[in-house]
Amino acid sequence: MQYQNTCEFAQQLDEQDSLKTFRNKFLIPQHNGKDAIYLCGNSLGLQPVSAKRYIAEQLTNWEKLGVEGWFEGDDPWLSYHKKLTPILSDIVGANEKEVSVMNSLTVNLHFLLVSFYKPTTKRFKILMEGGAFPSDQYALESQVRFHGFDPKDAIIEIFPRSGEDTLRTEDILAAINENAGELALVLFSGINYYTGQFFDIEAITKAAHNVGVIAGFDLAHAAGNVPLKLHEWGVDFACWCSYKYMNSGPGGISGIFVHKKHFNEDHNRFAGWWGYRKDKQFLMAPGFDAEPGAEGWQVSTPPLMLMALHKASLDIFEEAGGLPALRMKSEMLTGYLEFLINEINLKKGKELFKIITPKEPSKRGSQLSMVCTGDAKGIFNYLSKNGVVGDWREPNVIRLSPVPLYNSFTDIFNAERVLAGSVENI
Ligand SMILES: *Cc1c(COP(=O)(O)O)cnc(C)c1O
Repeated sequence: MQYQNTCEFAQQLDEQDSLKTFRNKFLIPQHNGKDAIYLCGNSLGLQPVSAKRYIAEQLTNWEKLGVEGWFEGDDPWLSYHKKLTPILSDIVGANEKEVSVMNSLTVNLHFLLVSFYKPTTKRFKILMEGGAFPSDQYALESQVRFHGFDPKDAIIEIFPRSGEDTLRTEDILAAINENAGELALVLFSGINYYTGQFFDIEAITKAAHNVGVIAGFDLAHAAGNVPLKLHEWGVDFACWCSYKYMNSGPGGISGIFVHKKHFNEDHNRFAGWWGYRKDKQFLMAPGFDAEPGAEGWQVSTPPLMLMALHKASLDIFEEAGGLPALRMKSEMLTGYLEFLINEINLKKGKELFKIITPKEPSKRGSQLSMVCTGDAKGIFNYLSKNGVVGDWREPNVIRLSPVPLYNSFTDIFNAERVLAGSVENI
């Protein structure tokens, strides 16, 4: 696509956009009486207009039915989670039985590690990307300690080559092979939160399997953002949150994936009654007997209101035609933003904004991370003051994420105008 740096061009793309009406399904935060330019869906997705109704329906069920709400009404709570899995499994590329909604993200990472990190005295190491989201680092360190190992010995982090911003797939695969004899687990994010790099999940999974190692992924920044084929790629397990690209509200309910090939194994689990065989759950018998499939990892009574919020958003994904349709627009929005940022650099004759996210659309989602020269924090504050909502990462990185469900090409054009203004005014 040949992009142009004009408002007319952006408006023309908006007119041709088959997803343009979806913006009306979201509540856009206001800035000085106008829609803010919200480019922060990688951190907290916007509220669907329908969210209040979905919650109100369940409040009414609670009001009218009391405890009977678990079994009666249009959406008995006992099986409400099953209404989420068809759409969710489509989003992550899984069979329905391989997906379950429960808890929140780091909690689920821990529960999955209980089952899938099985260190022995010889093979106890975990290979992960350097600079992973801190919660994942803390989770892994504490799991390693829980098994009696020292994180300094047990966690191998791999970093980009010097002078490079992102990891090369060949280096990840080489690290897996070099450490093969000592690895118990490869755990990567799907998309690195800082750089926006979309890892080659399939290649990493295959390389791990070739040396007999389990491959798990934290898809916080990937789920609902890029097309995934977890089942086909043979990924062993994964988890994600629903409040970033999946717009399901702050602290929204998380989801897990466990590949079918692991269903018949005898797993270590930290179990609870909600993961018990559904047909016998209420016999309240001693001795844990897991529900087959990913639902066997459920632990607690599900938070109904959070599931209702999640459903409000997932129904919009379904209406939009799922990830293939969204991805096409996402690549264009991100490409347009990249083009406009580079226009500023070109005009100034120096790289004021250095984009560290990979250039290839297949290696990124909808996020661009840029290292800012000069007063980076000042630039970020200027954006905020002028209605552009992005997010800030120490020491000098601004992340901007155009989301295909609710961002327009005009948003991107206007964001560039403000960014260009920051260069003149800071
Ligand atoms: C956002 C994010 C988290 C946050 O975890 P919570 O348990 O939801 O607070 C964890 N890991 C990654 C990779 C993230 O991007």
